[in-house]
Amino acid sequence: MFLLLKPSRSTFLFTLAAVATAILLATPEAHAQTRTIVIDAGHGGYDRGGVPGQRIGEKALTLDVAQRLRRILQARGYRVVMTRDSDVFIPLGTRTSIANSNRGATFVSVHFNSATRSGANGIETYYYRSDSAALAANIHRNVVAIAPSENRGIRRRGYFVLRRTNIRGVLVECGFLTNPMEGRSILEANYRQTLADAIARGIQGQRAPISKPLTSGAALSAEVLSPTMSGPDFVKAAPRSKRRSSARHHRSSKKSSSSSKSKKKRSSQN
Ligand SMILES: [Zn+2]
Repeated sequence: MFLLLKPSRSTFLFTLAAVATAILLATPEAHAQTRTIVIDAGHGGYDRGGVPGQRIGEKALTLDVAQRLRRILQARGYRVVMTRDSDVFIPLGTRTSIANSNRGATFVSVHFNSATRSGANGIETYYYRSDSAALAANIHRNVVAIAPSENRGIRRRGYFVLRRTNIRGVLVECGFLTNPMEGRSILEANYRQTLADAIARGIQGQRAPISKPLTSGAALSAEVLSPTMSGPDFVKAAPRSKRRSSARHHRSSKKSSSSSKSKKKRSSQN
């Protein structure tokens, strides 16, 4: 087009500069950053996740869902950063450093749950920063909508990776590997793809389809329906001096997941 118009050299350079400026203005750094998702596959390396002696290991399944989620988000134009992309141990502090080096990004930690009681099943979603409540609700609703198990609610909890991140973040427990029915589903690649799809829809802020009624207790339901309400925290953030114990957040929380009552009791002791 420029050649057809035969512009002078200076006009051509001016036009080129104007086009370049327009492109830069259309994709400012800030906008690019909000399209960055830091995906955190739980555990890895010698940290298998779950409870001792658990038959289905957690670390490989969290990585699989994280990698599926990455493919989905990248196909939709997101920039994705993984805290791990293989079976390696990444300290929690390194995971939060990776998250914090991506200013304005969104942090999503993928986990599977476990309990000593095999009957425990369902989806739990956690957040800590108040700016993450809506994200937690979006992800939770979408995952609950496709899961064949209970809605265990959205909870505000000071897990290390949520408390130490300076960006909005959510930790989603995509079901219990210790539950025979749920564990069987999670072992199927198709189901893990469905899980990743649901998390991606939640990240994109899509509404979950009207799904099954809530099956959790009334207190949990209230939180799910109105996650931005501050409400009582199930577990308060551990004080900084207790950093080491909170780094083992999973193992300690797993044992208490047999009943929400015991969970509340434990939380007040923290
Ligand atoms: Zn975990």
